[in-house]
Amino acid sequence: MSVTNSTTKDLADEASRLRRRLAKVQQQPSSSGNDLPQPEGGERFLHRCLFELPLPVMVHSEDGEVLLISKAWTELTGYTPEELPTIDAWIRRAFARDQPSIRAGIAALFEQQKPVREHAFRILTKSGQQRLWDFTSTPVGRLPDGRRAVISMAVDVTDRLSDGHAAEPAAADDLSRSQHAERTTARQLQLNQIARVNTLGEMAAGLAHEINQPLAAIGNYTAACQDLVAQTPELSGAPIAEYLQEISEQVYRTGQIIRRLRMLVRNSNPHRSTIDINSLVREVVEIAAADARLKGIELALELASALPAVWADRIQLEQIVLNLIQNAMEAVATCPAKRVSISTACLTPAGLARGSVEVAVCDSGEGIEVDDVERVFEPFFSTKPQGMGMGLSICRSIALAHNGNITAENNTGGGATFRLMLPVADG
Ligand code: ADP
Repeated sequence: MSVTNSTTKDLADEASRLRRRLAKVQQQPSSSGNDLPQPEGGERFLHRCLFELPLPVMVHSEDGEVLLISKAWTELTGYTPEELPTIDAWIRRAFARDQPSIRAGIAALFEQQKPVREHAFRILTKSGQQRLWDFTSTPVGRLPDGRRAVISMAVDVTDRLSDGHAAEPAAADDLSRSQHAERTTARQLQLNQIARVNTLGEMAAGLAHEINQPLAAIGNYTAACQDLVAQTPELSGAPIAEYLQEISEQVYRTGQIIRRLRMLVRNSNPHRSTIDINSLVREVVEIAAADARLKGIELALELASALPAVWADRIQLEQIVLNLIQNAMEAVATCPAKRVSISTACLTPAGLARGSVEVAVCDSGEGIEVDDVERVFEPFFSTKPQGMGMGLSICRSIALAHNGNITAENNTGGGATFRLMLPVADG
């Protein structure tokens, strides 16, 4: 991260600001026995170190006062310490949406026992630019006046997440997080790519099915005409017989092309193995998490313990779960409560030896029109302006190919729940 040099005047201003603040803190009586009083010079030196750190750093207290922001914070955001006297001023300026939950998240930091890492927050700079920041925050005990304080350090990951390249050399811990973020992004790209290929395949299969029926009708009518011509002596030798023969050959040829297309689509080779659904769900939620955070959507996980394994193609199942989560996130995007919960369960119907494993994706959106609850699985059914309407149709094809199913229902309290059910693996 490159940090430009500040002017001498900036440093002098900051030094006098810190002196004023320290004087204020020292005048207040200490209410805690945990204070570690420092000689004034030492405390000022530590402040100076934090201020000069070439990373965005903020220290704030539980009553919302911003005690320090580093020079890098100002340089990257454009906000001076004077513009951010309180944490609330920072939230109002830097976060365009979902301010209440960000406020609650920051307040909860004071209760944490260890550092809290949060990824890909969308920050608005003073010039209106959007940046993505990863935060690491940790409580740092009490000030001499008894107030608890938290220090937060940010890493700007905008370039990394937008083009997959590290923006700068990073520290070891930061590097592993950046590698992790890159892997997650790469995995998402891979799943998107496979989803696109599957979409094309399913569209081809859908079109082939649609075209087959009128084609069969053309073939039948042509055959009927050929019979008529053959039975009409006046037409013997007329070019019409030849034309009908031509039509019949073209119909046969088109049929062959469609059959080949359908075989091609069906031939996509699934690689089945024993899958732990909980770990698969966790992995997919991780892929969706950055996007959810950017959109202010809460993703909640409720995973059943001791879930039996299923025998399935991992990538295809990941695609289903990702598709359901993405749909749910789109469904809550314009709702005041933006919550998507993903749960797993094992269902064992009475009298059956083998139960099934269920993944349910439940959202707080507006739900599905009653007449559309089954239609959402039809190819090309979409209520979205840019929707292709192939996602759920593909999900259902994959579920059926695994001897499972996928269903939709409206929740009594609003929103919809989609359930993927898969048979428990043999053995
Ligand atoms: P697309 O997302 O391109 O529209 P899908 O097949 O994934 O295609 O979804 C088909 C339709 O099902 C959507 O357009 C929407 O009307 C409906 N749908 C899917 N998920 C939800 C949901 N969570 N809540 C309400 N409606 C949904």
